[in-house]
Formats: sequence, structure tokens, C-alpha cells
Amino acid sequence: MRRIDLSNFQVATSETARDINRRIVLNLIRTHQPISRADLARHSGLQRSTVSVIAEQLIKERWITEGANGHTPRGRRPRFLHLNKERVGIIGINVRPGTTTLALADLDANFLSQDSLSTPQDPKQFLTELVPRVQKLMDSRTELTCEGIGVSLPGRVDLATKQIVFAPNLGWRDFDLKTPLEEATGLSVELENAANSCALSEICFGRRAEGLRNLVIVTVSEGIGCGLILNHQLVQGSTGTAGEFGHAALIQDGLECSCGNRGCWEMYASNLAAVRYYSQASRGRQSATAEKTISFDHLLQLAGQGDSKAVEALEQMARYLGLGIAPLVAGLAPDMIVIVGEVTRAWHRVGPIIKDTIRRHSFTRAETQIVPSDPITQPRLRGTIALVLLKHFGAPAIA
Ligand SMILES: [Zn+2]
Repeated sequence: MRRIDLSNFQVATSETARDINRRIVLNLIRTHQPISRADLARHSGLQRSTVSVIAEQLIKERWITEGANGHTPRGRRPRFLHLNKERVGIIGINVRPGTTTLALADLDANFLSQDSLSTPQDPKQFLTELVPRVQKLMDSRTELTCEGIGVSLPGRVDLATKQIVFAPNLGWRDFDLKTPLEEATGLSVELENAANSCALSEICFGRRAEGLRNLVIVTVSEGIGCGLILNHQLVQGSTGTAGEFGHAALIQDGLECSCGNRGCWEMYASNLAAVRYYSQASRGRQSATAEKTISFDHLLQLAGQGDSKAVEALEQMARYLGLGIAPLVAGLAPDMIVIVGEVTRAWHRVGPIIKDTIRRHSFTRAETQIVPSDPITQPRLRGTIALVLLKHFGAPAIA
């Protein structure tokens, strides 16, 4: 149930109905392609003539094309419709503190080509290095019309100003990435937090997307972020910063965090935390300031080889992951929580500990599934494609 916001509504016009039907048809084509007009009419309940009008419009705008003739037992052979993968491209950019990955994707979110660069500490320098690479990707497939650019960030973007306002692991603050990137490329740019991007990727392209209504994504990397989909809708909060559970204090008077607070969840359950546990155990001291000596990848490798200190570090990380997820399960009762990050490579080890900790710390009867994401799907990057596509494929904002 959702009340009508009387300070921000759109009254329904005949255009509203057309827009809704068009989006339904476009989504049906995406999920059922190749599909005939007759089947579209059957699936949507729309008149055959309405489907034809919408299809013609979508063909004209190059979102879909007509393919080979289909086969029916008798009568006219229908021409199948499918998304125009060969015509429309989307640029996705996944920014992380170490490496930024770029990709050119088609309408089905298949990556056609990828590139990467080291992420400079200075955001202006980042722009200087990024723009020619975006141009190169666009030029690599000149037959594609680029529809836009989606950017996933380890931080939050202000809803009103579209500036990056909170990215402690990047060290960028109040920086406008959108305007200069739009000016340099001539494309519209959508920015979103990495966890939110992953959430959009899961509901748009995920294997388990069908029927998924309430979803929480927990991205575990240098920090921890959460993306919330409640009732099919991305939760952004009043300013766009919703989901920062990673910076909610889990431990009173705990370790100092890059956000300026103490005892944040991510200080105990992120990749950096696991590396710190390992360093402390290796040095035989409890100092919280032990510098990281190995990468998280290396730690996973050591744990895989049976190194007991590495195993214990991962298990400690898993316990804290469970401890932070438990209130999300109890408080939101989502259908599913998907954990994204390198740690899922050791799911056989960390998964049972995470689930057991959640079970012991949340006493509601929520039937929440706790699952790892499939790293092959590159959810952070794929979510950037969803960001651009949802402008055309997402539910329209009404009332
Ligand atoms: Zn913090």
C-alpha cells in the first residue's frame, strides 16, 4: 500500500496509459524474446491492435527489431520480435578504490568489451584518465548507439545535487562526476551506490529475479554497503544515502573508522578487517593498528591451503557479517539477502557461520534466504547497465 503524495504527483493522462503499456510490452519482449505480436497480446491482455501500435513505435525508436518468421501449424507465419541488441549500447563503469572497470554492454546486459584502469586518488585526475577510455569503448562498436552511462561507486550520491557526498574509502567528497562526464561524452550519466547497483542487477538480470519483492544486498569489500529493494522499489532515503549500515556502530567505543565514527560494522566485517585479524594473529599481538601486510585475495588463498590463521580470520569476519545482517533480517524480513564480494569465494567456510550467527541473533520467523552472489555475473558492473535501462524498462512514476 502506498499513499498518494499530494506534494508530488502526476495526474493520469492518456499518455500515462500508453507509457505503462509500452513498458509492459518492452519488458515482455525482453523476458520472452523472440516473441510474436499474438503472444504479446496473450501475455499482456492488451488488444492485438494496441500491441501492434506499440511494437511499431518501439521498432521506429530502434529498441526492438523484427526477426525471422515463426512457425505455426497453419495460417500466416508470425514475425518474431526481439530486443535490438545490435543497435543500442550502454557504458557501465564500476569504480573501486584500487581498480575501475569499464564495459560496453548490449541491451541484454552482455558485456561486449571491457577495460580497466587504476583508480587515481584525485577525482579530477580520475576524470582525465576515464574520458578517453569511455570514448575508446564507444568507438569500438560504431554500429551501436550508446544510450547512456551508468556508474557504480563505493559511496553515496546526493539525490538533489547528484554529487558524490560520501565515499570514505575513495576519499572523494562533494565531487561532481556527472556533469563533466556528460559534457565530455554527450551521454546522460546515472550514478549509484555499488550496493544499490548490485540490487538493481539482481532484480533486473538475476537468476532469482522472478517474484523477488524484498531484497537486501550486502556488498563486502574494502567497506560494507547495503542496497535495499522493498516492494520492488530501491530505497534511497531522504537524501540518497539509505543503506549505510556499514557505518552503523556495532561495537560501543570500538575501532575508529574512516567515516569519523567508532565501532562501525565495516571495521569488523570487511575485507580489511579480515586482513587485520590475520596480521594480528601472525604478529601475536592484539594491536588494532597493525598495518595490512597481505591482500584479501592472498588471505583467501592461504585459507584455501588450510592456513589456520587465515581460516580463523575469515571465520571471525563471517561472525561479524552475521552479527550485522541479523538486525536486517529481523527488521526488514526480506525474501532474500545476497552477499556480494570476494568473500563469497570461501562460501563453504563462511556461509554456515554467517547463517548460524543470524539464526542466533534474530528471533523472528522471517524465511529469509541468505545466498552468495555469483561473481561471474559482475553484479557491480552489470547494475550500472540496469541504471540506464530502468529509465526505459522500469515502472513509471505515477501518483
Ligand atoms: Zn564508519
